[in-house]
Amino acid sequence: MFTDARSKKIILVAHCILNQNAKIDRCARYPGASREVTQALLDAGVGLIQIPCPELQYLGLDRQVEKDKETTIESEDDRVALLMNKTVPKVLCGKISYDLIYQIKQYQLNGFTVVGMLGVNGSPTCGVETTWTEGKETDGSGIFVKIFKEECADQGVKIPIRGIKAQEPREALNTLQELLNA
Ligand code: SF4
Repeated sequence: MFTDARSKKIILVAHCILNQNAKIDRCARYPGASREVTQALLDAGVGLIQIPCPELQYLGLDRQVEKDKETTIESEDDRVALLMNKTVPKVLCGKISYDLIYQIKQYQLNGFTVVGMLGVNGSPTCGVETTWTEGKETDGSGIFVKIFKEECADQGVKIPIRGIKAQEPREALNTLQELLNA
C-alpha cells in the first residue's frame, strides 16, 4: 500500500507558521506563511499537518482585546496567557491534541515517519523550549504544548517537538534541518 508519489513523511506545524494572519495583533512577520521555513518544508517533500490555532479557536482573531484600552504586545501576551490557562481552553487544547495524536498514530501504524512537531517559542500557548509568563519570555512550554506532551505520554506516542520563531529564520531553518535529519 501507499507505493505512489507520497514521501511517507509528515510534520506537524503550528498554525501560524503557515498562516501569519492568525497571529495576535502586531505580531505577524510575513504576509502569509513564514517564507523560509515553509519553502524548506516544501523542498523536503514532507507532508504538512497544520495544527489548529488554539488562541484563534478560543479567543477569536482579536483575542477579545479591550479596544478602548492602551495595550502593548507584552501586556497582550500576559492577558492571553491568563485566559488560555482557564479550564475551557485547556479542554480545547486536549481535544486538539487528541485529534492530532489519532492522525500521528494512523501514519505510524501504516509505516509513515512523523518527523516531529514545530511549535512557536515565546508563545504562551505553542511555546516549546520557551513560553511567556508575567511579562517575559521564560523557559518551559506553552499550555497547548504541555497538554499535547501529556497526551502523547498517556498514549505512548513519541515524536520530537521543537520550537522556532518567525523573526529568527536562520535558527528556524537549523531546527527544521535537525528534525528532518534525525
Ligand atoms: S503560536 Fe499558537 S496560539 Fe499563537 S498564533 Fe501561533 S498557532 Fe496560534
